[in-house]
Amino acid sequence: MSGNTEYDLQKLLDGMQTFVGILDMDGRLLFVNNSPLKLAGIDAEDVLGLQLWDTFWFNYDAKAQAIARKDIKKAISGESTMSQVKVQTKDEPVWIEFSIHPVMNDDGEIYQLVPEGRIITERKNAEIAFSQLKYELENRVKIRTKELEAANDKLKSISETDPLTKIANRRAYEIQIVDEIAFAKRASQPLALMIIDIDYFKAFNDNYGHIAGDLALTNVAQSITESLPRATDHVSRFGGEEFVVLLQATDVKGAFRVAETIRTNIMALAIDHQFSDVAKCLTASVGLASLKSDELNGEHLFKRADSALFAAKKKGRNQCIYNLNDETENKESDHLSIAT
Ligand code: GH3
Ligand code: MG
Ligand code: MG
Repeated sequence: MSGNTEYDLQKLLDGMQTFVGILDMDGRLLFVNNSPLKLAGIDAEDVLGLQLWDTFWFNYDAKAQAIARKDIKKAISGESTMSQVKVQTKDEPVWIEFSIHPVMNDDGEIYQLVPEGRIITERKNAEIAFSQLKYELENRVKIRTKELEAANDKLKSISETDPLTKIANRRAYEIQIVDEIAFAKRASQPLALMIIDIDYFKAFNDNYGHIAGDLALTNVAQSITESLPRATDHVSRFGGEEFVVLLQATDVKGAFRVAETIRTNIMALAIDHQFSDVAKCLTASVGLASLKSDELNGEHLFKRADSALFAAKKKGRNQCIYNLNDETENKESDHLSIAT
């Protein structure tokens, strides 16, 4: 072991990968180890006496210089610092991580600063590449999620649409009625329901054929849709030649007016039906009911409208009947009020 400690220390510091120095309180380099400088082709002699921010590490880049100045100021006030700066050298940009530590004398006064620095370009580039990859991945996930949401919406729309008439199907109705009842109860509003059933439709199909039957169903569905006055009124094909309509915040009188419009508009389509016992054209019967929010119950409402429809059929078809009876369903017509 050599007796010359100073010499050994210098050698040790020169052998380090890390740049280590001593700064005076003006930020001037009093000491610097040699090795990292040598790698950069610089002699320690050339930088001694320079202020840290004027050394080649920083002086190609104004932003890096500003960071070095700020950190030295902080260190002078007693705070240790750690910064990463990207230095735009003549060649490739270099990332440097540097820290500055204040050194105190026995009286607790700061009289020197110790800067340390190392090149972290490789690590930093890997970090940047990683965060770019992460960003791209997150973006792709976002796009994929949007695509999935769109596909889901499409699927939902398909599953709730009647393929023939393109209006809502029974499944959509089952969802809507739950929503409408919840809304009616929240808003203390009545809910009206009507069931529309085409008259003598079997005879129509039997005589004019299934294709003509399908076309008639599509036209009737369209006509009902166009007869609904409010955006909150919903029509669904319940099955076969039956349609259901839900009318938000509507009492039985209001629903009856809409039902009459629907019925007359279906007649106005003037679809020839020579085999009907009620008219020369295609007609429909409508049964309707409305319940106040406190007595509202989906099954009950439906049964009431259905019993009104039954009465409308029984009374000769091509008419709208509403049910005011509080009691049970499928009663004779004198339990039902025929609106005039
Ligand atoms: P009512 O006046 O009592 O309602 O008699 P209706 O003949 O209309 O009633 P019924 O229930 O006996 O017959 C309904 C007919 O509706 C049976 C079938 O021929 C026809 N139908 C049901 N769904 C479709 C469909 O999707 N397309 C066609 N073309 N016809 C259908
Ligand atoms: Mg029917
Ligand atoms: Mg029918």
